[in-house]
Amino acid sequence: MPTTMTEESTRTAEPRSGPAPIPHSKIVATIGPGSEDRVGELIDAGMSVARINFSHGTEEDFLRRVQKIRAAADERMRAIGILADIQGPKMRMGRFPGGILALAEDLRVRLRQGSGVAPSGEVWLDFGGFLEAVRPGHRVLLADGKVELVAERVESDSILARVTRDGELKDRQGVHFPDSRIAYDLPTAADRTNLELARKAGIDMIGISFVSRPEEVATVRALIPGALMISKIERLAALENIDALLEESDGIMVARGDLGVEAELEQLPLIQKSLIQSALRAGKFTITATEMLESMIESSRPTRAEVTDVANAVLDGSDALMLSAETAVGAHPVESVETMARIARAVEHSQRYLSMPLPSFRQAETNFPNAVALAAVQAAQALGISRIVAFTETGNSVRLISRYRPAADVYALSPNPQTVNHMTVLAHVRPMLFRRERSLEDMLYMASEMLVVRGFAQYGDALVFVAGVPAGQKSSTNVMKIHRIGEEVKMH
Ligand code: PGA
Ligand code: MN
Repeated sequence: MPTTMTEESTRTAEPRSGPAPIPHSKIVATIGPGSEDRVGELIDAGMSVARINFSHGTEEDFLRRVQKIRAAADERMRAIGILADIQGPKMRMGRFPGGILALAEDLRVRLRQGSGVAPSGEVWLDFGGFLEAVRPGHRVLLADGKVELVAERVESDSILARVTRDGELKDRQGVHFPDSRIAYDLPTAADRTNLELARKAGIDMIGISFVSRPEEVATVRALIPGALMISKIERLAALENIDALLEESDGIMVARGDLGVEAELEQLPLIQKSLIQSALRAGKFTITATEMLESMIESSRPTRAEVTDVANAVLDGSDALMLSAETAVGAHPVESVETMARIARAVEHSQRYLSMPLPSFRQAETNFPNAVALAAVQAAQALGISRIVAFTETGNSVRLISRYRPAADVYALSPNPQTVNHMTVLAHVRPMLFRRERSLEDMLYMASEMLVVRGFAQYGDALVFVAGVPAGQKSSTNVMKIHRIGEEVKMH
């Protein structure tokens, strides 16, 4: 009996041979010039979600990559979700004579709005609104946080600031004002263009960069109905609004790159843990991102610290782990995914992981779907049953099962292709496309036969089945049945 399962859709008739290296924790890999022609290999190595970042590449690059991802997924009959990140109001510097400017400590620098090449002694910023928001004493972080200034004087057309941490600035690097509330639009005009492209391409999930308020999530959602909204937590303001953001979002990304610029670096590990806990409590998923296997951009092996970071992200409760430059432009994209998958599987097979207690939020929620999810997980655990089969129209009930991280494999069957793709990001879930049946009996019978035909189960094996009645409608999950495959299915 296979112990690891693939996520094939029902279009395939035979089980794939060989072990499927897909860990319970999902791998999100960014597709770029270094990987767009190797998407199939990334899938085989354990990628479940492909990410495209609108911060890089043209419209043609985007559309071509979407098409390559869909083609590779179809060829393997695997559900692969596509996540597209919109840039949001990323603030950048303009340019410098010769492309570079070295700033020594205590030097005075003038900050001015503009996007061309700044005269010496000045740094231009490609956005407005900072003159109104910055007060003397506020920090200005340049070059993605490498260089720090403190504003001394705010004048009518510029800010005079003193360098408090020296370093080199390069053209177009990122800028942060962690102490100032700069007015901005989200989505930006560029985001709106990108969202329209994403909508037409049928993108499954949108990563919203630099979001800080729930209304921004609602605005983006209205522009691409049906896609999952993932709030990238990378501003201090987003941390402050986390509960409201979670409520409006389907999931969050712990975006450690930009977050690590605004927050104190030593706080990052604790922020990561508390964000993941908040998301679990809210019934939302988490992607932990950035620099997870950074050294593998060049090296074929990760550092000890990176291996430990990936393992700890799983133990913290992440649904998914993300690779950025490692797969987008790195020299070892496939090895990066394989490495991440191996680390995640090692944790998932450990006693430490398997014996983690059910989270304490379980009693607090008294709705039907959560009660059924918890009952299914506990029944499987008590009886040693290693398969939970869940029928879902929207995926909501499966998200609730997923957050209990059951030892059983969760086969999440949906007749809705977008729901199937949405569930690719959920830990412990094997999403599959499955025909809508007219009765619970038919659903359970067909699903059992499918598991046997594909080699995922044998006659005589038990499974825990959850669904909603009346069948085939968007009713919320309200039925759990324990079933032995091969026995007659009778529900009345
Ligand atoms: P990015 O987001 O890769 O789009 O910048 C992730 C992060 O900031 O960590
Ligand atoms: Mn970012």
